[in-house]
Amino acid sequence: MRIDIITVLPELIESPLNHSIVKRARDKNLAEIVVHNLRDYSFDKHKRVDDYAFSGDAGMVMMVEPIFRAISALKLQRSYDEVIYTSPDGKMLNQQRSNYLSTLINIIILCGHYKGIDQRVRDHLITLEISIGDYVLSGGELAAAVITDSIVRLIPGALGDETSALTDSFQDSLLAPPVYTRPAEFNGWKVPDILLSGNDALIEKWKFEQSMERTKRLRPELLDEWGED
Ligand code: SAH
Repeated sequence: MRIDIITVLPELIESPLNHSIVKRARDKNLAEIVVHNLRDYSFDKHKRVDDYAFSGDAGMVMMVEPIFRAISALKLQRSYDEVIYTSPDGKMLNQQRSNYLSTLINIIILCGHYKGIDQRVRDHLITLEISIGDYVLSGGELAAAVITDSIVRLIPGALGDETSALTDSFQDSLLAPPVYTRPAEFNGWKVPDILLSGNDALIEKWKFEQSMERTKRLRPELLDEWGED
């Protein structure tokens, strides 16, 4: 899979995508992540990519032309399954959307900044708008990093243990069960006996019950998703 990220702040996005599972996936060529500086597509001698809002509102707006050039240059090289804009009014990122995105071949993620981007970009060039939560960030870079991380770890082979993504929270609309490691007792705090029993069937049953209990208690609305497509 290839992910092209367009931003005015490439430095902000490189670091989070150069560690841990995402780095390993990049090293193994499972994910190619290319960060583009939008200013490289500005013809202005000061490399400006923003201008005042026609509405007179405070805050600068990212101009249509450099964005059009950046996206067009990429589209000349390959076709894209989705051109995503990170936006607080977009569709909320969730595990289902990450699963979908992880099956795609080529995607572009455009990071907004300042007051946002010229609406004409959204009307004509963007195919999917994604929010990472009901709050406003200074720019789309951290959102793009969150989206990319959540997608890349789902690509087969990205995680050391192939099955572990399947047992993460939300994957089956349930929260993950609690996990424990050695020592079996610390400070008088004990690991549940059943995990030490060596009985795989009982352990599986326990994990499912724990998942159910946690989900009912913390996120009961997730159980409504059972039986939906
Ligand atoms: N004026 C805009 C917010 C601009 S914030 C509004 O009120 O909707 C600057 C940029 O940060 C946005 O263009 C967007 O790309 C990004 N951004 C801010 N909050 C975000 C969120 N919750 N999810 C994804 N991107 C976000």
